[in-house]
Amino acid sequence: MTDVVATNETVLVVGGGISGMTAALETAECGKDVILVEKEPALGGRVAQLYKYFPKLCHPTCGMEINLGRIKANPHLRVMTMTEVAAVDGKAGDYSVSLKVSPRYVNDNCTACGACAQAVTSEIEDPFNYGMSKMKAAYLPFNMAYPQRYVIDSSIIGTPEADSAKAACKYDAIDLDMKEQTITIKAGAIIWATGWRPYDAAKIQPYGYDRFANVITSLELERMMDKFGPTGGKFLRPSDGKEAKNLAFIQCAGSRDRNHLKHCSRICCMASLKQSTYIGEQFGEESDASASIYYIDIRAIDRFENFYKAVQADPKVKFVKSKVANITEDPETGDVILHGVDTEGYHRYDNRHDLCVLAIGMEPSVDASEIARGVSADMSGFIEFNNDGGAIFGAGCATNALDVNRSVQSATAAALRAVQVINRVSAAES
Ligand SMILES: Cc1cc2nc3c(=O)[nH]c(=O)nc-3n(C[C@H](O)[C@H](O)[C@H](O)COP(=O)(O)OP(=O)(O)OC[C@H]3O[C@@H](n4cnc5c(N)ncnc54)[C@H](O)[C@@H]3O)c2cc1C
Repeated sequence: MTDVVATNETVLVVGGGISGMTAALETAECGKDVILVEKEPALGGRVAQLYKYFPKLCHPTCGMEINLGRIKANPHLRVMTMTEVAAVDGKAGDYSVSLKVSPRYVNDNCTACGACAQAVTSEIEDPFNYGMSKMKAAYLPFNMAYPQRYVIDSSIIGTPEADSAKAACKYDAIDLDMKEQTITIKAGAIIWATGWRPYDAAKIQPYGYDRFANVITSLELERMMDKFGPTGGKFLRPSDGKEAKNLAFIQCAGSRDRNHLKHCSRICCMASLKQSTYIGEQFGEESDASASIYYIDIRAIDRFENFYKAVQADPKVKFVKSKVANITEDPETGDVILHGVDTEGYHRYDNRHDLCVLAIGMEPSVDASEIARGVSADMSGFIEFNNDGGAIFGAGCATNALDVNRSVQSATAAALRAVQVINRVSAAES
């Protein structure tokens, strides 16, 4: 790690999701040196965990592949995974940043052959599948992971299993002596693209996410649709493994609620509309499978309106204008029963479903007020643009709940601001 070269003409990008990748690429393609740090073992962020993108319903893998190709080809861009920012000091054009690098126990000799995983028996929860499945303690984070390099989980370090993994590697790629390191680098500008995390569904007590197996989140449903996911691409109920054919989606789960997130997470309506199309894909357009979307109002503006209209026209999808009051479970069948009042007819309902999907709210993964002096946070902790003269610029979902298109726009704007700072630094030094 000692070979990290950075000066005050370097741009540091924090977070390797679609926004960080975009910001890093746009900056590096202007000829500026960039260091992109990502705390996980691979790039991609939450987009890599999606099954399909709205509104085109294409697989995120195509966009990711293009970006990864650009990253690999760019000599100005250095990627550091398993790396987090510990502290930021300094001012625009002259930052000193302390980075904490966690050990991967695998070096770049790795060919991703998987022999280490075969030599290991211990299993750990797979975070890529939100803990819905297990994986070996020697693992590739996901099929398309970049870098294509295994990780030895720290839970087996010091055990005979780690030694077996090392012995199984023909390429001398396993280094069990790796240690956590802290390094300090210089940077002229910082793009902060640490994205979002789902609101903790268990906090929405009336919906029983932590009590009822068949209440899941919208993110978990994305992983279920993936044929490499926890259910092999099938809608299976966690309680009994039966096919779920009668789904409920609860909108604003944790958003627009003074007890939880006050802001609108914006994406959740489109995410549920998109996921309602998975039903036809899963069971066939002529099947009796159905979805009911319980909503306050649907936010699908501009170019998304046509998508909303197409879903409205689908006879398999029913819209119920209501904030669901609470959920109970039928202990005999595991079915979930949604209780509330339909505000379009003012009648009470107790509707039974196989599976209930919470369209969970999005909050910033790092509270902006904790990043560095001078960075402003809005009331939800997202980064707010300010003109205080600093050069720490927010990008993507670190600044708001945004879809991919808007995240990319925001990242490109942040890249432009960072390039302007570096140009000023270069001009002052020449
Ligand atoms: C259910 C659901 C479905 C969705 N479907 C769609 C869709 O179909 N189409 C669409 O356009 N949008 C969709 N979205 C929105 C999409 O997920 C976001 O637009 C996208 O993830 C934003 O990318 P990002 O890079 O800003 O953030 P993220 O994807 O969150 O990436 C942030 C990255 O930063 C890293 N990071 C975090 N903290 C640190 C740290 N301290 N140090 C270093 N790295 C860090 C993370 O590990 C991650 O890799 C969906 C959202 C939800 C909730």
